[in-house]
Amino acid sequence: MYQCSLERMSDKIKTFAKFGDAGHGGITRYSLSKEAHMARDEFVRRMEAIGAKIECDDCACLYATLEGSDPNAKRIVMGSHCDSVKNGGNYDGIEGVMTGMEVLETVAAENIPHKHPLTAMIWTNEEGSLYPPAMMVSGIICYDYLPDSLKPNFEYDNMMASKPMDESPYANFGEALAASKYKGDKENRISPDKYCAMFETHLEQGPILEDAGNEIGAVQLVMGMFNYRVRFHGFTAHAGTFPMAKRHDALHAAADFLCELHKAYDAYNAEIVEKGEPEFVFTTGEIYVHPCIHTCINDEAEFSLDVRHPNPDVRAHCMDILKEMAGKIWQQCTCDIEEQWVRDTVYFDKRLVGFVEESMDEMKAELGTKWQKILSGAGHDAQFCAYMIPTTMIFSRTKDGLSHCEPEHVSDEDCTAAATATLNAVLKCDASDEF
Ligand SMILES: [Zn+2]
Repeated sequence: MYQCSLERMSDKIKTFAKFGDAGHGGITRYSLSKEAHMARDEFVRRMEAIGAKIECDDCACLYATLEGSDPNAKRIVMGSHCDSVKNGGNYDGIEGVMTGMEVLETVAAENIPHKHPLTAMIWTNEEGSLYPPAMMVSGIICYDYLPDSLKPNFEYDNMMASKPMDESPYANFGEALAASKYKGDKENRISPDKYCAMFETHLEQGPILEDAGNEIGAVQLVMGMFNYRVRFHGFTAHAGTFPMAKRHDALHAAADFLCELHKAYDAYNAEIVEKGEPEFVFTTGEIYVHPCIHTCINDEAEFSLDVRHPNPDVRAHCMDILKEMAGKIWQQCTCDIEEQWVRDTVYFDKRLVGFVEESMDEMKAELGTKWQKILSGAGHDAQFCAYMIPTTMIFSRTKDGLSHCEPEHVSDEDCTAAATATLNAVLKCDASDEF
């Protein structure tokens, strides 16, 4: 078993946290911004120093490759993103980029023999926080392999026309890309012709590893989900003159519905957990009311509902509960529901998951590292890449389960442990006849 360097990893964490430093512990590093280019410059500088070959594709994804001993072998890639949300943390995305770099640096420093070329990669615009949607470029690059239901969300021309959600010198994503010195050739894109496996290392972004006292996790899948809009229709009238009994108050209806939905879903969750299933998670993140005036009763109310679980039967039952409730009258208002998107569970490649688990077992035996199998509730570039080439993920423990915020933290030791797990899993993949 080989080990990554804590000292080298700590140095990378400190250095990359400067690019977009917002001055209070976190970063704002929008995709294709000046700060994101500084991170790419540093990546290139460090990768050229170990003799890696640098390439860019037409979406400004950046690749650094160390050649292997077999000229016919396809590349094994480790990639994640270097963009962040506004006032995000120093780990989301960049941890996976630093992992790829650290693996190549360890291979170079220790002269570790390998057949396959090994590539460290930066995916462009994963967060989509300046130019939506999230996972834009993995959606573009993996487009031909995506399920038909997802394709309309990632049409190339629409992506290039994506307008900035915050201040930007460019009118759209396409213009920002055209201005980037890292825009290269389409033929350099990650593809099944040249690449045989993808590993993405990422912080967990939840509290499961920490609560269990484990440092790292072998990710099995990305949970399937549905996202719906739930709407209530009443009528508006004056807040001071209209008697309570005659009202059709859409906000009251929505509030009532949401409380009942929570009771029904909590009961169903208790039932499935009893049967040994993991719990499903459900969220109302957005709410809209009309006319939204303090002297008026609201005639329209609408909220989002996001439900995630790996088992399609569980998701289907959640949908049945939602539909049954939507068929009723709530505070004299009607209700209708509309699908926004639905995505099936994405299972990671069993062989690659196996390599990760074997590596973590070796780390447990030799270093006392504590690990567990884990599921991903969040989306990642790896999830789209998994439709195209064998892919898997490694998670690291996240302090207090917090991410997408400035207190987001992973210890240098846990980052290094995740990198060591990645390195050894990559070497097992390299040695396998199946890749
Ligand atoms: Zn991320």
